[in-house]
Amino acid sequence: MKLQTEAFSKITNNVTRAGNITLESEEEYAVNSQSFYTLLSTDQSQENRKRCYDQRFYHLIDESDSMATLYFEKARLDDLAAKELKYTDSYEKCLYRLYLTDSQVDGMNSVFKERKDIFEGYNDFRKTKLELETLKPYDLLLELTEEPGEEYAYVDALKGIQKSYAGMDPRFNDIFLEMVTGNFIDVYPDPENGKQPGGYCYKLCALHAPALIFMNYNGLISDQKTLTHELGHGINSYLMGNSVDYLYCTGQIYEMEIPSTFNEELFVDYVIENSDSDPAVAVLSQHIGEYQNYFAFQPMITEFEHKAHQLCAEKSDENGIVSGAELNALWTELYKDYRSDSIEYYAEDSAEWTNINHIYLANNYYTFNYAVSKAITLALFKQYREDPEAFNENYIAYLSAGSTLTPEEKLKKYFGIEINRQLFEDAMDVVELRIQQLEELEKERNGPKFESAAEILNIYSGSFWNMPLQK
Ligand SMILES: [Zn+2]
Repeated sequence: MKLQTEAFSKITNNVTRAGNITLESEEEYAVNSQSFYTLLSTDQSQENRKRCYDQRFYHLIDESDSMATLYFEKARLDDLAAKELKYTDSYEKCLYRLYLTDSQVDGMNSVFKERKDIFEGYNDFRKTKLELETLKPYDLLLELTEEPGEEYAYVDALKGIQKSYAGMDPRFNDIFLEMVTGNFIDVYPDPENGKQPGGYCYKLCALHAPALIFMNYNGLISDQKTLTHELGHGINSYLMGNSVDYLYCTGQIYEMEIPSTFNEELFVDYVIENSDSDPAVAVLSQHIGEYQNYFAFQPMITEFEHKAHQLCAEKSDENGIVSGAELNALWTELYKDYRSDSIEYYAEDSAEWTNINHIYLANNYYTFNYAVSKAITLALFKQYREDPEAFNENYIAYLSAGSTLTPEEKLKKYFGIEINRQLFEDAMDVVELRIQQLEELEKERNGPKFESAAEILNIYSGSFWNMPLQK
C-alpha cells in the first residue's frame, strides 16, 4: 500500500509534469496530464503538437530509472505475496480471482495482434482528413471535426441519451427518468469550490435506490458519452439492487463495465442516425480511436506487466535491479506487436509505462479487463442488433443477476457466449463494420448520393449488422 501511495504521488508530482514548452504563438504552455491531451486533441498546428509530445516523451525517459526502482520492489512483493498463497506468481493469482485462465488471455492477445491491420482503414481515413503524408504519434488524438470543441447543452444531451434507449426494455427509460429528474446526478464542474475532476457512479443497492452519479459535464462529445456510461452503471446497480440480496450486488471488473460501454454503443448509433454527417463523423471516429485503445493499448499494458514481473524476478535472483532503459526496451518491443506499422513512431524506446497508474496498484494486472469487457459488449451489441426483443429479455435478466452466478455461467446462460478466441474475433468484426460505416459516412459527405447521415443508416438498418462478416 505504501508503494502504491508513493507511486501515485510520484506520477502526480513528477512524471506527468513534463515542464513548459513555447507554442508557435510564443505563448508558454505547461505540459501536464490534462493539458497534454487537451493540446493533442484540439491544436490544429502539427508543430505545436510535436513540441508537446516531445516534451513529454523525453521527460518520461528521464523519469524511468526512478520509476523502475519502485516497480522492481513492487513486482517482487506482488509475487512473494502470491507464492505465500500457493500461486505460481501474482499473474496466476489475479486471473484465478477473475475466473479467467492464462490461455484465455493469450488467445485474446493473439487475436488483437493478428488482426491489428483492420485499423489501417481508420488510420488512412485520419491521414487523408488531416491532409498529412504520414501519421506521427502526435496526430492520433486530434478531433476530426470542422468545429472542434463544439458544446452540447446538458438538457439536449439528456434528450439524445433518452432516445438512444428507444430500442431497449422500457425499464431503461423508467430508471433514466428517475435518475435525471430525482437529483441523483452532480452534473457541472466547480473547481473553484473544490469539486474534483472525473466521473463515477456510486451504487446505492442496499437502499434499493438509484445510484448517484458524479461528473463534470462540459458539453463535449466525450462528456455525453461519459453521462450515458455512468447511467449504464446506474441502471445495472438499480436492477441488481431490486433483484438480488445486497451481498450479490457486485461482479468482476470486466463485468461491471459491460452495461456502461454498451450504452456508449447505443449513443454512437443514435448520433449517426440523427445528426448531420460532420458530427456523425466526429463521434464515430473518436469512438473507433477508443476501440484502438481498448484492443491494442490496454491488453498490451498487462502483457508488459507480466513480462516485467518475470524480468524483475530474474534480476532479483542475480542480486541486481531493473533499470529504466530495460523496462523501456521491453515496453517498446511489446508495443510493436500491437501498434500500427504505418504510424511513424520514434526510434528511441518509449517510457510510456512510467505514468500508467494501474501498473502500480496493489491489485495489479488491471487494464486487460477493459479489453475483455469491451469485447463482450460488442458481442452483446451484435445480438441486440440482430434480435432486439429476445436480447432485451436476456439482458435485463443478465444485469439483474449480480454475482449469484459466475461470469462465465451468466454469459453462457443468457447469451450462449464463452470467453474464447471466437468472442474476440467477433469483437474485431464489429470494429471492422464500424470502420466501414465511417468510410461510408465520409463518402456521403463528399458525394451527392445521399441526403444525410440518417439516410445512409436507413440503408444499413436491417442489413448492416446482419451482413456476412468478412475475415
Ligand atoms: Zn465505468
